[in-house]
Amino acid sequence: MERRLTCINCPLGCALHVIIDGSVIQVSGNSCPRGEIYGKSEVSHPVRMITTTLPVLNGKQAMVSCKSSEPIDKEKIFEVMRALKSVVVEAPVHIGEVLLENAAQTNVNIIATKNVEKAEKKMSFDIKTNTEEFLK
Ligand code: SF4
Repeated sequence: MERRLTCINCPLGCALHVIIDGSVIQVSGNSCPRGEIYGKSEVSHPVRMITTTLPVLNGKQAMVSCKSSEPIDKEKIFEVMRALKSVVVEAPVHIGEVLLENAAQTNVNIIATKNVEKAEKKMSFDIKTNTEEFLK
């Protein structure tokens, strides 16, 4: 069996040709070793990093950027995104802070990639409408 893939590890986007012969996987078309690793992983155990934003309660900014602490099985990504839909974090938030532990039982945490300081005025956040307002 063979597959043609585009390496997503850098903007060059090398066109990979992967040949699978039993347990032997051969990769060509890569310009560097990372392409070979990606090609082999993509046909045997595809994974992806997740990057997204989450709402912040009582923060100077309404959202905080975050990512998975490690790559996640491609097939578990929708489950993780579903779990993240109900997460609202309270300010202050610090880079590296775990915002969701063991996301969708993947043993991977979702961590903050930005600091969000606490706002001087308290805010409320409506998760249904994704809006916030200052409390009087
Ligand atoms: S094989 Fe190497 S050079 Fe080519 S896209 Fe992948 S990382 Fe970039």
